[in-house]
Amino acid sequence: MQKRTCGRTGLDFTVIGFGGMRLHGKDEKYWADLVREAAEAGFNYFETSHRYCSSTSETKIGEGLNGIPRDSIYISTKSSADDFLTADTVRTTIDESLRKLQVDYLDFYQLWSLPLKDYHEIAAKKGGTLEGIRKAMDEGLIRHLGFTSHDKPENQIALLRTGEFEAVTLQYNLLNRVNEPVIEEAGRLGIGVIVMGPLYGGILGTESKVLSDLFGDAATDAAAEVAFRFVLSNPNVTCAISGMTKSLDVEQNRKIAETAKPLTPAEMKVVEKELAKFKTAAESLCTGCRYCMPCPQGVGIFAVFALANAARVYGLVDGSRAEYAKFAREWPYDSFKDATFCTQCGACVAKCPQKIDIPSELEKAHKLLV
Ligand code: SF4
Ligand code: SF4
Repeated sequence: MQKRTCGRTGLDFTVIGFGGMRLHGKDEKYWADLVREAAEAGFNYFETSHRYCSSTSETKIGEGLNGIPRDSIYISTKSSADDFLTADTVRTTIDESLRKLQVDYLDFYQLWSLPLKDYHEIAAKKGGTLEGIRKAMDEGLIRHLGFTSHDKPENQIALLRTGEFEAVTLQYNLLNRVNEPVIEEAGRLGIGVIVMGPLYGGILGTESKVLSDLFGDAATDAAAEVAFRFVLSNPNVTCAISGMTKSLDVEQNRKIAETAKPLTPAEMKVVEKELAKFKTAAESLCTGCRYCMPCPQGVGIFAVFALANAARVYGLVDGSRAEYAKFAREWPYDSFKDATFCTQCGACVAKCPQKIDIPSELEKAHKLLV
């Protein structure tokens, strides 16, 4: 399986990693068997969180990796913003993650969905989260520190420049390239880049007349492969996380990870030219800049609009609706709420450079996505 070095850590990750955010709806043995199957197939980066899947993801991954040589895999877990309280709180969370994952050290620990303003707060606070994490690193419980972020690109770049982190996990895919400057800066600084949502939450592998015209008859498979190849065409990307939920996913991803090559310049030109036809329509609703965030009610404004765009512009209707349905519960990557949580307070409107009437567009997006 192809591997890439994760920035200055020197660790070689398989180009596709196992994401533990979708381990719902079957018993623990099913998921442990799938995780083991993925490890035995050669995937070596396993990413989870102590909150994923109602706090069961770590246990399922730990059980699946039990017996797999520890030095052949890299495990990453994370704390959510709610845990950014004290050094003691985060230490309790770390100890619990180690216990559930059945390991005595974590290769990576990530601060989950970290906005720049929270970083400044937790970095400065005596007895705070970062102090607890640094102590755990000194004790050998954590080897490398990273963060995940949905913040504005310039704020993510500022986080990279703090010198605190060795990896960033961010969104990047064929239809959402807003984080390209962040990826470039990470490469310049020797920071590993883990891509979440390479298939746009799986949407790029679902039925779409628009994409089948673009990618040919084998539309869903071809779109998925082109989507992975697009992400891996960026030389600063270390690895793309895939939420595998069945043996077929493991097998398809194995084939892609073994053989997929970056798009050639000629292929990239074709994809860019074709997608450029949709760019104006897609950006007329929202450019994804995130200046409107955060919403005090937790509405994932840009994420709701991105799904509306995927449905309206790219014809990915079923996949977008399926993904949107998760917002009301726990979004796999985060905890964005759907448009029904908007109280029409108007706080976001003045911050939008596109002058979008966000509350009313959210209503329209919601109607399209349910
Ligand atoms: S108008 Fe709605 S989406 Fe905008 S900040 Fe207020 S609650 Fe959030
Ligand atoms: S709604 Fe406006 S501010 Fe928010 S992400 Fe879209 S374009 Fe940017």
